[in-house]
Amino acid sequence: MNNQPLILVVEDDQTVSGFMSAILKSNDYKVLHATSGKEAILLTASHSPDVILLDLGLPDMDGINVLKAVREWSKIPILIVSARGMEREKIEALDLGADDYITKPFGTGELLARIRRELRHSQAADDLLTAEKMVIGNLELNYEKRLVLMNGQEVHLTPIEYKILVTLSKHAGKVLTYDFIIREVWGPYGNDIMTLRVNIANIRKKIEENSAEPRYILTEMGVGYRMAEEVTD
Ligand code: CA
Repeated sequence: MNNQPLILVVEDDQTVSGFMSAILKSNDYKVLHATSGKEAILLTASHSPDVILLDLGLPDMDGINVLKAVREWSKIPILIVSARGMEREKIEALDLGADDYITKPFGTGELLARIRRELRHSQAADDLLTAEKMVIGNLELNYEKRLVLMNGQEVHLTPIEYKILVTLSKHAGKVLTYDFIIREVWGPYGNDIMTLRVNIANIRKKIEENSAEPRYILTEMGVGYRMAEEVTD
């Protein structure tokens, strides 16, 4: 097979990169491997990988600077591989154009799902943004009619709740930072995370079966929210 997607793994820890390479190769991806930031930038320029898995703690430079450098000329999906509890770093990376992150330690299934999502979305992102309709599990959004249905029943949302739900659904599967959502919904001067939280809680009450265990709007602790791409019973 010639068109196997090419994944660039940027990671200086041999154990972690070995683990990731093995998973990727056994799932029919081609893998390139960089152990420093400089090498990552060179390999990106020379091989144009389909997805970059980027560790932020590299020996020669901060992974954030690799991200910035690549974003100067390329929109290649970049998935940050981050340690637990590095919320600030994750937010900074997302704001600088990273597409998503995955937190160590992660399972095989999670890694593969994130990569599949990036591959799918690098092609479909524009379609999603201009779609007229979206169905996720039992939730249906009709953007044209501004109609939201859950199990076929109309859900009554306030204008702000509707805007939040549209923003999340247009980026389904992707984590959105608090700042991003606030800017999209309230504009450049919005800054109130508390108001966002209250609105999310209200939307959950209206669309989730159990708002304590949401399945449609997922919380990314300390970072933001992610709308599920698929919900199955
Ligand atoms: Ca590292």
